[in-house]
Amino acid sequence: MFRNAVELSHFYAAQAAGPGGVCIDATAGNGNDTAFLAGLVGPEGKVYAFDVQQKAIASTKKRLEDRGLQERVRLIHDSHARMGLYVRELVDAILFNLGRLPGSDRTVYTKSCATIAAIEAGLGLLRRDGLLCIAAYWGDPICNEEYREVYDYLKGISPRQAEVLFHEYINEPHCPPTFFAVHKV
Ligand code: SAH
Repeated sequence: MFRNAVELSHFYAAQAAGPGGVCIDATAGNGNDTAFLAGLVGPEGKVYAFDVQQKAIASTKKRLEDRGLQERVRLIHDSHARMGLYVRELVDAILFNLGRLPGSDRTVYTKSCATIAAIEAGLGLLRRDGLLCIAAYWGDPICNEEYREVYDYLKGISPRQAEVLFHEYINEPHCPPTFFAVHKV
């Protein structure tokens, strides 16, 4: 009955963005979220999608082309920490799906330093009432460290700047990802 972290991201993004909107996928990966956002904003909208792995950019490009969505998406092969260099307009929603690209190089994963810099940049780009969503993994020590640092960072945000909501399944055995929704006020 409850949605998982990725479905929650989509649910919340749809509250903030619609046709003609502007969104950011901070971790393009295999392009699942990018394609979802591209559908949400429609032909008049725009999505910026970042990834540091060429393989992820290629896989996202393919997914978009298969669905005829590539025209409304700008794929950027760079760190999300530098999103402010590429995005020069206010945005409605920003998604992060942290961790590693499934089936890919295990040594490439999101790291708290860049993730937190990107969240900070993203909060600057978000319009008032916009939403920033994060699916965060915690089942192994590497992910767990990032998850804790992101949690602490978000906990420290002034409530005058944003409301921060946290979802967690507390009785599941396989460490499903947790979810943060940050609403800019
Ligand atoms: N854990 C998710 C997938 C996450 S994919 C799942 O299981 O479905 C995370 C993506 O973030 C990867 O493709 C990785 O290359 C990318 N990434 C890592 N560091 C990044 C950074 N600094 N900027 C942009 N993308 C980054």
